[in-house]
Amino acid sequence: MITKTVAVFPGDDASPEVMLPTVALLEKLQLPIDFVYPMVGEPALAAHGSRFPEGSKAQVDQADASFFGSTSGQSTEALFYLRWGKQTYANVRPCQFRPGYRSPMANPENIDFVVVRENLEDLYLGLEGDLTDLAGLNLYSKHAKTSLKDMGAGRYAIKVITEAGSERVIRFAFELARKRGGMRKVTLTSKYNMLAKADGYFRDIGYAVAKEYPDIGFETFIVDDFLCRMISNPCALDVVVTPNLYGDIFSDGAAGLIGGLGLAPSGCYGADYAYFESAHGTAPDIQGQNIINPTATVLSASMMLTYLGLNEAGNTLEAAISSLYAAGQCIPVDQGGNAKTSEFFQALNDALGLT
Ligand code: ATP
Repeated sequence: MITKTVAVFPGDDASPEVMLPTVALLEKLQLPIDFVYPMVGEPALAAHGSRFPEGSKAQVDQADASFFGSTSGQSTEALFYLRWGKQTYANVRPCQFRPGYRSPMANPENIDFVVVRENLEDLYLGLEGDLTDLAGLNLYSKHAKTSLKDMGAGRYAIKVITEAGSERVIRFAFELARKRGGMRKVTLTSKYNMLAKADGYFRDIGYAVAKEYPDIGFETFIVDDFLCRMISNPCALDVVVTPNLYGDIFSDGAAGLIGGLGLAPSGCYGADYAYFESAHGTAPDIQGQNIINPTATVLSASMMLTYLGLNEAGNTLEAAISSLYAAGQCIPVDQGGNAKTSEFFQALNDALGLT
């Protein structure tokens, strides 16, 4: 079997507490994977004059995928490279309930959908600035009946929705709906009434792509309506596709439906690269307490194994997580139990028959 290479970024604050034991567990599974650790942040700056030096970039390029721990700054440049440098345009965030999760819903059993968030455009291009930058454009708001230059001091951020960027992520969502073989439905959501030009464009492209997939259902909802539906009837969803910002927000909300951020994995896919990270941030408020829930990170690792063609190992890992929650004896603190992070990893090792 061909050996794969994974570039590991342990991350900041509480992230290494879940990242490093997860990699240790993957090592124990004796999979055909070599793990490399590109240097980032302050040590890289001191040694090579950059927080993400060329050598680290080369390690990412040579790897088959990256496993990324959330960052509060040390690996931000690496993260930007993983996104824009590697064109990982589809952020896939599954929301699947497992018995034992502490869901606030009365009937969470059948919650099983995926948010596909466009990962490279929208308001995340960093095109922000002072309103005075735009003075020369003579922009006029028909809604407010005022010129931008008359609005006084302020800032702006540009929302970009491109044809190519939208089309590829929407197509990705349809392909995923086919592959999942569930309800075989794509739900597109954006603010296409108020933002008719930008978000309306995203929806128009959705309708065009949907014609190529007659076997897959297609529906669209305005974001506010969608959010109400996501909370009141999440079981009606299969694959949700949405521009970047809404996807960022809705996927955290989706995590809340099943029991919280500690449970939410994530993978960002491009045409020829992918990286995997939990949907949550670095959880700085619980750093060093040995209580961060590893589930999101382990499930992200499972997604990575599947991406690398190690489907059986990915399924085994996922099944082990399910079995721990179903048994109810080693439940992390955020899920109402009292298992420490290290105890959860020990139980996971035991469930996998590892020493
Ligand atoms: P970002 O902006 O990078 O998403 P953030 O600081 O907004 O980060 P998180 O780091 O995701 O948000 O944390 C939000 C809350 O959820 C915090 O109270 C944190 O402790 C909690 N949290 C996040 N991940 C976990 C986890 N794996 N286990 C337990 N609690 C978590």
